[in-house]
Amino acid sequence: MTRSLTIAMTVLAATLGASRPANEARAEAVGPRVREIADRALRDVAVAVYDSASPVIYYNPDLMARFSPELRAFFMAHEYAHIALKHRRSGALGGEPGTFYRSLQAKELEADCHAARDLGQDGRATALAAAGFFAGLGQARNDLEHPSGSARAAKILSCLPPL
Ligand SMILES: [Zn+2]
Repeated sequence: MTRSLTIAMTVLAATLGASRPANEARAEAVGPRVREIADRALRDVAVAVYDSASPVIYYNPDLMARFSPELRAFFMAHEYAHIALKHRRSGALGGEPGTFYRSLQAKELEADCHAARDLGQDGRATALAAAGFFAGLGQARNDLEHPSGSARAAKILSCLPPL
């Protein structure tokens, strides 16, 4: 390697190195772009996978189509909330199974609350539609990691922004 090329590369490396913190700070402020990926094999309407560099929301378009536009919007807002809250399933690992599911259920309620707040005044109808849907499920739940419909409805209503 010639000396001038080495210098050029050193300068380039220094430039890249210097510009990186600024870019990182910006990415942190705005947040990395969330990719939405359709997956017809998904067994849930949507699932968020938080990763600081490339968060992804997988959704099943066939299952989504069974719900109203308001509910679809809420489900997506809920998944975006999981990402905004940096929820990882692994954070709930360890300890007894009861603790594991309680931790996951707490995260579900946090995401519902964040979604209701984030939808704000403009999205009030969306959040109310979700609260109505979950209230209709009553004590029923899809699985052990989700709280009952009643609990989710109550959480959403308690997190609606004031009128
Ligand atoms: Zn969730």
